[in-house]
Amino acid sequence: MAIIRKTEGLCPNCRKFVPAFAVEEGGSVYLDKECPLHGRSRSLIARRAPVYRDLLDFYARLESRFPRRAAEIESCAFTTTLRCNLSCAICFAADGQREAPPEPSPDELTGMLAPVRGRGIMVRLTGGEPTLREDLPELVARVKESGNHAVLVSNAVRLADADYLALLRRRGLWGIAPWMDAADDEAVYLRMRRRPFVAQRRELLANARRLGLKLFVFFVCVKGFNDHEIGRILSLGRDHPNLVKVILMPYLHRGARGFSAGEEYALDEFWEAVGAVLGYSLDDLVVLFQVFLSVRALRGRYTCFNSPFLLVPRSLRRKDGFDPDRYREVLSRFRGLMEESPAAARRYFLRAFGADLLRRGFGPPLLRRLLFPRREMAECYVPPGYVWLQFQHLFHPPNYDRELIGKYCCYFSLNPGLEKRVSFCEYYNLKLKT
Ligand SMILES: [Zn+2]
Repeated sequence: MAIIRKTEGLCPNCRKFVPAFAVEEGGSVYLDKECPLHGRSRSLIARRAPVYRDLLDFYARLESRFPRRAAEIESCAFTTTLRCNLSCAICFAADGQREAPPEPSPDELTGMLAPVRGRGIMVRLTGGEPTLREDLPELVARVKESGNHAVLVSNAVRLADADYLALLRRRGLWGIAPWMDAADDEAVYLRMRRRPFVAQRRELLANARRLGLKLFVFFVCVKGFNDHEIGRILSLGRDHPNLVKVILMPYLHRGARGFSAGEEYALDEFWEAVGAVLGYSLDDLVVLFQVFLSVRALRGRYTCFNSPFLLVPRSLRRKDGFDPDRYREVLSRFRGLMEESPAAARRYFLRAFGADLLRRGFGPPLLRRLLFPRREMAECYVPPGYVWLQFQHLFHPPNYDRELIGKYCCYFSLNPGLEKRVSFCEYYNLKLKT
């Protein structure tokens, strides 16, 4: 057993911070913790230690050469309510013991948005279930008035009402972010959501498209249960040109109903399962993560260690996507140059990446971004043939890593009772204690 690094974790029993060690054993990485009251606990973090080590090393190198700028809010989540009209077997916020903070009024929302006024960023209205707020149209209008883009993160039960959805659109709703656990396998919904959703989702997507709403799809993946749907969900991009991003969330066992800890994925294990659908090996996928991570790092911005992202072709054909073999060479040269001169490394990387972007038709959308910076979110300035793929492996007590969250989180929460913005994972684990 070898210690890779020391951090702070959460005791799964009392949720207090305890010393934690990422250790390598038998080729995998575990997080070992010891609580003075509840003793030792261990959780699997990554199946393949070299993947974890290499990625950590890459982050550390980038961070030492391209220091993080003062945290700038790039997007934020606003918890409208913690009430919900479903009780999903997979909910990560579902133990019912949590303290419910007061629901902020539209005026309070306007106040919270003051620091990001006119910035043109995404403001996610989340819950609980936001459509339970009768004043949701007004909340949407307030986000629009603040000069930002309102995206509704919703179970979308109420959005089946096309008139209601059209009303939200008129008040300024910019996008919707429903979850979809399957394209057309009703058995999946019946177990994960306890009611049928296939027809509802089909209609919802058609309405969203007709109303000109951008679409973000959350896919919660339970290992060995709905992983066969990964490819079908990713191929939604072909039929839905308004699909901006698919957010892939592996199931987290939070003592919730219906599944077990054995149905959780380790970080790299999930990446590998998704990569297989796209024709990428785990190694290929990590190369592409590093490319997109570098693009941000060059601007002094970082990406959550557990939640890398990349652009994939809507065709899902490997040959239409960014070529990992080419970038393996680019990154190797980039790493070498970083040792000598960060400025030279930056020039080299931007030239290599920029040339590839131009070849792939990114010229016109990038020009649009320069000319009309706030008309749409930055993520929308990509050619129609591509869609964003975002992994979102949330931190929760078994894998909570205070150092990684502190260093790399870029997802902030604006929530009641918080004087300052905090990372989403910190909020869910420490403030709400879900
Ligand atoms: Zn404890």
